[in-house]
Amino acid sequence: MPDPIQKAISLKVDSHPRLSEFNRLVYPVVSRRAGGISLGINLNPGKTCTYNCVYCQVDRTTEVKGLEVNLKQITEELEYWIKEIKDPGGSFADQVLKDVSIAGDGEPTLCKLLPNLLIELAAIKKRLRLDGCKLVLFTNGTNLARPELQVVLPEFYKNDGQIWFKLDFWDQSSFHRINRSKIAYSKILENLNTVGKKHPVIFQSCFFSWNNEAYIPTLYDPYVDFVKQLQKSGVRIEMIQVYTLARRPAEPSAKPWPDEVMDNIHESLSSKLDLKLSIIYSQSGKPQ
Ligand code: SF4
Repeated sequence: MPDPIQKAISLKVDSHPRLSEFNRLVYPVVSRRAGGISLGINLNPGKTCTYNCVYCQVDRTTEVKGLEVNLKQITEELEYWIKEIKDPGGSFADQVLKDVSIAGDGEPTLCKLLPNLLIELAAIKKRLRLDGCKLVLFTNGTNLARPELQVVLPEFYKNDGQIWFKLDFWDQSSFHRINRSKIAYSKILENLNTVGKKHPVIFQSCFFSWNNEAYIPTLYDPYVDFVKQLQKSGVRIEMIQVYTLARRPAEPSAKPWPDEVMDNIHESLSSKLDLKLSIIYSQSGKPQ
């Protein structure tokens, strides 16, 4: 591995360098969510997103110019990192590749290449025999219902594909307050229904303290009601992952909930929802 890249890689959970400054589109991270090494694919090196979440942890203070997304480069970089991770004497000794995830610095469903990439990932997984390695698409749902994406989703799911859908809101007002998107709330719901009624989805929900608000045990009851409604309408929810902040957010008024609050949220959601839950604490390293 070239020395500058070796130095830039951080195997800490509070830092996820994308390596864009080295013209890279794939980056390894130690992921709290995956519980090990995750290879991230950055489909948005230009950091474009349709949301403007108050808690966004993408560093937009630096700009990346001239890095274009292309499939050939992504494939070559993935193969390179997979070889590094499998090397018993390499930098990732004792680490296991848990997943290949499409995340990066913006919304992946905006990228034209996404359907081709999903097919390519399924092929790489078979070719390199990445048994047990999941393929993960993170999305805020903006273009999730694109017809050309619908065509490839069955193959993606057949190869351990998962969709992690960002769901931090419970109604139009919380959507505007937290995610601050210009995309219509109804459009996001429509997309979620289109995909979620055909394929299982995992919700990824960021809960945090906003403007010094105090935590009360009923704070997320509207979220619970909303999730129940979605379940009732036929959206197939496989799991919910609730997490709080670990890196610097867009707005300083967004603060991570402390561990005891996260425990309380876990208890409250578990007692009210018939769903598998996973809780990710701030940086305490507390087990999920
Ligand atoms: S959807 Fe993700 S990348 Fe976009 S603003 Fe929200 S947290 Fe940031």
